Amino acid sequence: MTAPNVRVRFAPSPTGLLHVGNARTALYNWLFARRTHGVFLLRIEDTDLERSETRYEDQLIEDLRWLGLEWDEGPGQPAEATGEMGAYGPYRQSERLAVYAEHTARLLAEGKAYRCFCTQDELEAERKTAAAVNGPQIYSRRCLNLSPAEIEANIAAGKHFAVRLRIEDHPLRFHDMVRGPVEFAAEAVSDPILVRSASGVSAGVPVYNYVVTIDDALMGISHVIRGDDHISNTPKQVAIYQTFGWKVPEFAHLSTILGADRERLSKRHGATSISTFREMGYLPEALVNYLALLGWGAEDGNTETFTLNELTQAFSLERVTASPAIFDFDKLNWLNRHYLKQTDPARMAALAWPYFAGRFEHLDQATQHLLGPWFGRLLALFLPHVDHLDQLPAKAAPIFGYDLEAACANEENIAVLAADSARTVLGELGGYVRAHNGRVTPDVFKEWMNEIKAATGIKGKDLFHPVRIALTGAHSGPDFDKVLPLIEDGAELALGISSVRDRIEQFVGV
Ligand code: GLU
Repeated sequence: MTAPNVRVRFAPSPTGLLHVGNARTALYNWLFARRTHGVFLLRIEDTDLERSETRYEDQLIEDLRWLGLEWDEGPGQPAEATGEMGAYGPYRQSERLAVYAEHTARLLAEGKAYRCFCTQDELEAERKTAAAVNGPQIYSRRCLNLSPAEIEANIAAGKHFAVRLRIEDHPLRFHDMVRGPVEFAAEAVSDPILVRSASGVSAGVPVYNYVVTIDDALMGISHVIRGDDHISNTPKQVAIYQTFGWKVPEFAHLSTILGADRERLSKRHGATSISTFREMGYLPEALVNYLALLGWGAEDGNTETFTLNELTQAFSLERVTASPAIFDFDKLNWLNRHYLKQTDPARMAALAWPYFAGRFEHLDQATQHLLGPWFGRLLALFLPHVDHLDQLPAKAAPIFGYDLEAACANEENIAVLAADSARTVLGELGGYVRAHNGRVTPDVFKEWMNEIKAATGIKGKDLFHPVRIALTGAHSGPDFDKVLPLIEDGAELALGISSVRDRIEQFVGV
């Protein structure tokens, strides 16, 4: 598929953390650009000075890079590209205020916009009157035909004014690549405010619908791909394009993301921000793969695992669905496990290390180095049992989290340990441990267990569960063959892990 001159943008407001909905928007834009050999640009929409924060901008830039969605133009990219309508940059709206002011002056001079001196109270009264008779909530246009003298007198009297677009009465239409043709009556739009009245906190600030349109037009945006929460804004933007005589781009409004209860996805449902997923130990390739499937599906209707590269080949906006997407944490976990399995051990170790860092930071460099192979074995043993990496420390509790008191206080353990057979087995085991010098290898251990079984006639669960509790704190868990060497080597590496011998002696001594 080729479409010449595709230029798309991701235009986040740095007023909070990048969440899955916006990340999906970024991804679809990125994929569409890559698929069509177009340009993907990042624009920071920070005109809301009260709520915009640099730390959110920094975070979202980090998150996009982490996901692998690098932009061709925008903050952090050296080239200030230019197009037919002049320079495309700057790409931060707070640096473009002069551009907006210039356009406002032009609209006012051409009579395509007008100053509105109505106060909040007056507008509120108008709304109430309309509501009382069930009339449409449209502005009365009281200020449309003020004479130049009246305008001048108002300004001289220090009255504040907003700037409104004058909309001619015709339907506002646009094409949506996800929904098809969309039409709104001009009345749905009224004469929208372009620049807020200078009386409020946001004194004289141009509004979102206005600046987004100016920027999209001047930046040569061919396709506006964004969340469907903006669909009701689109007719206003179309009216602005038409007023300036600019070509209206194609739109693609992406469906809302819902939780399993079909309510809009929110923190209530679990993690929603990219940085939280990252902290939890989801891999970027899993998240990207999952986000791609939130509203898009492969042509074969079947394939669900896609790398970013494969997505670039397979993605098309035509296959994006208009119905809401349900965020399925189980599926995301499944994909994460899929990619964890494929990750090479060196990368895996680097990714998992921070979750154990507190345990290792007291060690000198040389010991940390020695730790590598041991840590690799630890991961090999426990990774298959986690959905995301922050679950590792709890899963690795048999090695790290050995806690005699907690083990003895656990109700399931109490039930196991209450049996006479348990006392017998542990008493025997204590004897073997005391008589033994050096490491407890799996072979030595197996021999003890066989001998205890032969001597006492106790077998199966009755034999193994109490021993497992004494060794790892839980009656079930991974194979002794794997756990024992990890415990013994960990104890030798001075990781604050007690040896098999210490554990059993301590336990039996209780
Ligand atoms: N700054 C807007 C937002 O974050 C951008 C919307 C758009 O893409 O037009 O919702």
